[in-house]
Amino acid sequence: MSAHLVNEVNLEADSSHTERKRAPSCTCVSSSPIEYFWRHTLKNFIEEEIDKDLASGRYDHVVTRFPPEPNGFLHIGHAKSILLNYGIAQEYNGEFHMRFDDTNPTKEKSEFAEAIQEDIRWLGVKWEKTMYASDYFDQMYELAVKLIKKGKAYASDLTADQIREYRGTLTEPGRKDPNSDRPIEESLQIFEDMKNGKYADGEMVIRAKIDMSSPNINMRDPIIYRVAHMAHERQGDKWCIYPMYDFAHPIEDAIEGITHSLCTLEFEDHRPLYDWVVRECEFPNPPRQIEFAKLYLKNVVTGKRYIKKLVEDGIVDGWDDPRLVSLAGLRRRGYTPESIKKFIDLSGISKANSTAEYPMLEYCIREDLKKKVPRVMAVLDPLELVIDNYPDGQTEKLTVTNNVENEELGTREVTFSKHLYIERSDFMEVPVKKYFRMFPGNEVRLMNAYFVKCTGLDKDENGDIIRIHATYDPASRGGNSPDGRKVKGTIHWVDQSSCFKAPVRLYENVIDEEKGVYNEDGSLNLNPNSLVVKNACIEACVKDARPYQSFQFVRNGFFTTDCKDSKEGEPVFNRIVSLKSSFKLPKSN
Ligand code: ATP
Ligand code: MG
Repeated sequence: MSAHLVNEVNLEADSSHTERKRAPSCTCVSSSPIEYFWRHTLKNFIEEEIDKDLASGRYDHVVTRFPPEPNGFLHIGHAKSILLNYGIAQEYNGEFHMRFDDTNPTKEKSEFAEAIQEDIRWLGVKWEKTMYASDYFDQMYELAVKLIKKGKAYASDLTADQIREYRGTLTEPGRKDPNSDRPIEESLQIFEDMKNGKYADGEMVIRAKIDMSSPNINMRDPIIYRVAHMAHERQGDKWCIYPMYDFAHPIEDAIEGITHSLCTLEFEDHRPLYDWVVRECEFPNPPRQIEFAKLYLKNVVTGKRYIKKLVEDGIVDGWDDPRLVSLAGLRRRGYTPESIKKFIDLSGISKANSTAEYPMLEYCIREDLKKKVPRVMAVLDPLELVIDNYPDGQTEKLTVTNNVENEELGTREVTFSKHLYIERSDFMEVPVKKYFRMFPGNEVRLMNAYFVKCTGLDKDENGDIIRIHATYDPASRGGNSPDGRKVKGTIHWVDQSSCFKAPVRLYENVIDEEKGVYNEDGSLNLNPNSLVVKNACIEACVKDARPYQSFQFVRNGFFTTDCKDSKEGEPVFNRIVSLKSSFKLPKSN
């Protein structure tokens, strides 16, 4: 029986391999058609720009890219960029490039590059060949030579401090770098010497010659090449000079024939420089940069730097800790690609920064799983229940529907006997007002089983309740009223002899931004309840659950089988989300 449940309903694990068929702007995760109707009919501002570019003949096709720096894991914000770029390429029958922006040798690690690709594949995104910006170092060098030859770049020996000082401020123009009049031949020779290791780090740079009085600071003769005697992950010791991001990125895009370089808003002020680079490098039909707003999650730390700190300080269990909103963490927590896509879809593409609500992400996973996964019984905080009038030693099998909202998931058999467990919170010796669950003298329904009436309780020497007693009505089998009498409470339970015990992990935010990220002494303000482990009693049918397989534990939420800590026959469960929701979809009109 357990095998049946595990095999038949393993939708969770397989869903990771389903192919994306639609652009994110029309990703449908079984939502009602009226819901967000406008998102599926109106184009976002990027699509509008692309339509114009195609209509004007500026481009006759569309090529996009996702360009992560391999210096950490991806997070939910990156999913927005990935799905946007990939979705646009799909929508316009274009091409999507996966390119590592590995121009900075200091921070990059191939371990991150592997993890990043795994996360993107998991989202259902496909690409042909993984590109690396560092593969273009030769071309970038040649293009810097070209700029120097054109009189558009020069070698400068100003120190970093001097460069900063000469650059001016937002209100004051910059001052001319005395090096900018250096003869072309001399700059060329210096650049070659820089390449050949004749300069120490910081001793010499190449600057683009643009406009020291530009109101845009980025245009005040930005550095395009610097000396860094440092080995590169992929290039080894070949280079001791490295291009700066603002010079390298447009070139990478142009070399690959990217048409629309979609990036986040903080690069808006860099766009004139982007355009300058591709123009002065004389790329035919150069790419166009369009900016969109980053995705932020309210009260949740999303930044790579924060996540890195939590990982490096050992506060969380690695980059894939289920409390993190890294994609690896969300996957391990039990989020599905479909739920992430729906969330990104609902949060929309815009030019104005906004913050998405975490409950919206939770809404998306509930919506995705509610019909996909079976609903089984697990008691997280067990209290013994003895059905005194049930025959000793007898057990029976009750046939139970796996998911009342999806008959396709079939039925299973659940063992019932005299000795059960119920949730401690489902019993009160002295009930508060409007408490309809177990208390002495009250009758409740044991879900899918029988009506039972509480007759008493046992306490230990400390006065703590250790067991409760009840009698059952054999005529109410299946949980149906035998004579029309009603009960107000329905509680879940498990049979003591057939259930198994497993750690069940309940999560909260590691840091609640609302309460402040830092304490007064500068340490992180950590939530002590971010991880609570329960030793739960669970129906036997999920004992063989496989990693990433998810269930609803009735009344307790959706749970997934942890991919790292579970062993065969000894699953560990992570709560993905509780069943309670504070989030409501806004009405679309
Ligand atoms: P870093 O500070 O290390 O550069 P990053 O988050 O910008 O961190 P990248 O690897 O440079 O990381 O990001 C890859 C792409 O993802 C970039 O195009 C970036 O604009 C985009 N991106 C990053 N964060 C978000 C976010 N919160 N929402 C949407 N897109 C994002
Ligand atoms: Mg970045």
